[in-house]
Amino acid sequence: MELKVSPELKEIASFDSKIPSFKTYLVGDWVSSKEFEDVVSPIDLTVFARVPRIPDQMIDQALTKIYEKGRWEVRDMPGEKRLKTFHDMASLLDKFREDLIEALIVGNGKTRAAANGEVNASIERLIRADLDVRKLYGEYVPGDWSSESLETEAIVRREPVGVVLAITPFNYPLFDVVNKFVYSTVAGNAILIKPASRTPLPALLFARIAEIAGFPRHGLGVLTVPGKEMDKIISDKRIGVISFTGSTETGEKVIRLGGVKQYVMELGGGDSAIVLDDSDPTYTAQKIATSMTSYSGQRCDSIKFVFSEPNVYDPLKGTLIEELKKVKIGDPREEVNMGPVIEKGTVDELEFAIKDATEKGARVLFGGKRIKDNYVEPTLLEIEKERVKELYLYKKEVFLSVAVMVKVENVDEAISLSNSRRYGLDASVFGNDINKIRKAIRMLEVGAIYINDFPRHGIGYFPFGGRKDSGLGREGIGYTIEHVTTYKTVVYNYKGKGVWEYM
Ligand code: NAP
Repeated sequence: MELKVSPELKEIASFDSKIPSFKTYLVGDWVSSKEFEDVVSPIDLTVFARVPRIPDQMIDQALTKIYEKGRWEVRDMPGEKRLKTFHDMASLLDKFREDLIEALIVGNGKTRAAANGEVNASIERLIRADLDVRKLYGEYVPGDWSSESLETEAIVRREPVGVVLAITPFNYPLFDVVNKFVYSTVAGNAILIKPASRTPLPALLFARIAEIAGFPRHGLGVLTVPGKEMDKIISDKRIGVISFTGSTETGEKVIRLGGVKQYVMELGGGDSAIVLDDSDPTYTAQKIATSMTSYSGQRCDSIKFVFSEPNVYDPLKGTLIEELKKVKIGDPREEVNMGPVIEKGTVDELEFAIKDATEKGARVLFGGKRIKDNYVEPTLLEIEKERVKELYLYKKEVFLSVAVMVKVENVDEAISLSNSRRYGLDASVFGNDINKIRKAIRMLEVGAIYINDFPRHGIGYFPFGGRKDSGLGREGIGYTIEHVTTYKTVVYNYKGKGVWEYM
């Protein structure tokens, strides 16, 4: 697999050998290392790039630099200049669109349409930083209402915390980096980004773009380090906020190690769809199939359970199977709907989950077969409601295209089965009965509910985030500002002097 890169971005890599070796941007400098990590393309499982494996000592130096210099450089850059830089970065993302698309296709196995969509979302996110700004205000608190604070008043300022550590997953390796960069730095923080080891290139290309746009040199760093070697930096007290997106299992480790800090935790789950008897089965099946198969189901908000009322169950099942039959799987550089999944191991886990499910009485309605290595059909199973809670798939998210259908008696049973999972990211409700929909809205323990649509977080125009094991805090334009800033109260004491004495 070969990677094409524009000359202006090529400066950050050596193309001397067949496999390019990239440098990483570490708080002011492009650096390399003695050791490298291979980056493998999910398309054919060959190595197409190498990135330096940053040793502990260099990480510590980078942290010292970002803490001592970078956080002040970002904070001291006037807000309107920060916004201007974001606009310049958006234009550069557009200019280098083909490089980014190439990195997302080769590195992630995305289809061209999905890769292009991710670049568009990243551009829009940078531009929409102007809406985040409206949440960066503080408050004025008069002292009049307590005898102790008469003649005093306070201003409650919102301030940046300092240094944000952003840990990102493999599935949106550009957008997640851009999103965390925008809300952290628009609020005046510096940021260290730790991209997923399987997909580090979009973060490096983005760092180069930030550099060209003139973002403060010491305010950004990209840590190309394996996750399991992150313990020291996670627990370092100079990191004020950790913004993590990834699996629940990793997220829990990060919080335990990080200790007292501020957190944004976007964790795993997979979503439920509740289908009411008065829904349109064709429309609903199309929406569920799209949710299941887009980016090969490697989305935190992909539908993994369909809890359907009895009368619509059979027509829905029939149409959903027909929709899944239409899905073309193959090399994402060709005209397909689904490319490979990120690695073979995820398909192994699916095979284990299918075996587990069928042993517990589930039936495979569609798919489930490995085409080769890390290419697999979308999978639809069904099981009786009495046994669904026993499934491995119910207890743990398997991160690809797989969903389980369950026939329920009524909406109450659907809500109960959805809430009994340890996850609580989003849910969909399909149908028209306003009383049932209202009940679902009130009782579902999730961060977002989509009525007559499948869950999709998009650029975070509407806030999203999990409850229970799916996370803490919210990502979304304006909403994350709360988690990456802190308050400082300034009390002015005028006691002893009347206003006239200042005149
Ligand atoms: P992951 O394996 O948990 O990895 C996520 C990030 O954590 C990677 O950068 C990884 O680095 C790092 N990491 C791994 N072990 C670590 C450790 N001990 N300490 C610190 N960092 C560590 O998740 P993934 O497979 O990349 O992504 C899929 C998961 O993300 C799914 O569960 C999905 O639901 C979730 N997700 C959630 C949302 C949301 O908005 N809620 C959005 C997207 C994805 P290495 O790559 O170097 O191991």
